Amino acid sequence: MSNKDYRVLLYYKYVDLPDHETFAQEHLAYCKELGLKGRIIVAPEGINGTVSGTVEQTETYMKDMHADERFAGMHFKIDEVEGHTFRKMHCRPKPELVNWSLEDDDIDPKTFGGKHLKPKEFYEMLQDEDTIVIDGRNEYEYRIGHFRNAIKPDVETSREFPEWIAENADKWKDKKVLTYCTGGIRCEKLTGILMKNGVEDVYQLEGGITTYSKDPEVQGRLFDGKMYVFDGRISVPVNRTEEDVVIAECEHCGKQEDRMINCSNPICNRQYVCCEECEKEHHAACTTECLEHPENRWDVDLERQVDKYDRIENNNNEKAGL
Ligand SMILES: [Zn+2]
Ligand SMILES: [Zn+2]
Repeated sequence: MSNKDYRVLLYYKYVDLPDHETFAQEHLAYCKELGLKGRIIVAPEGINGTVSGTVEQTETYMKDMHADERFAGMHFKIDEVEGHTFRKMHCRPKPELVNWSLEDDDIDPKTFGGKHLKPKEFYEMLQDEDTIVIDGRNEYEYRIGHFRNAIKPDVETSREFPEWIAENADKWKDKKVLTYCTGGIRCEKLTGILMKNGVEDVYQLEGGITTYSKDPEVQGRLFDGKMYVFDGRISVPVNRTEEDVVIAECEHCGKQEDRMINCSNPICNRQYVCCEECEKEHHAACTTECLEHPENRWDVDLERQVDKYDRIENNNNEKAGL
């Protein structure tokens, strides 16, 4: 047996699911029975999920989903891992797949949005002088890794994107505009929002950074740093060439570093960049205040680990609107 007997699946599809609440309930029961763990969001407009499980469990899941005609062509992105990357199985009904809090129903990815680009096409267009590239994710995701020269949106949550775009769209009207996100789902509507604001020449990276990283030809080129992920791994490598660089710094000592850890004070609830030596020295607390906080859990290692996964699932997902 290899030590990569587990997989993480990342997938979404915009498809009408009128009775999404019943669907969510039944789907949760099905996933639990299968032994999967992860987070799935179900909305009247479709499904968005990340789940982990054994090779066998994930194979069964993909086969069953493809047998349902609503999900027939759905693309699954697959990562090999050493074990579950989630602790629990959630399947939640929500009004939108990504929480943009949009009032405008015309932005329907099934019929409206930026043109999809394959990794090679995206890579080539990135190098075009008339092109600008906008990161479709949030600040903490951008911080540990992003495409070279990408614009960092001035937002803390996906809900703030529409307003930020409305304020800035005039600057981009004569340009080719590329967008990207982790797995592609956020760009489906983000490009539509740009187009609604008068930006016409808009493109999105199909399958997101996840797919770009695995493309045998581009191999993650022009992506600097690591990709933030919403599970126990926290971050994964992208650029598989010798140009792989580290762009973040340890918050304690300033050394170049791109590993993120959870602050050992659960009240602080923050993931931050911290090198291995400083994690030991500062007991994984992001500040002196967090170190001295009565709730600090540095000593309760197991519990800290458990908390870590819960917090990743609950906290940053909310900000990303996923
Ligand atoms: Zn350090
Ligand atoms: Zn802290």
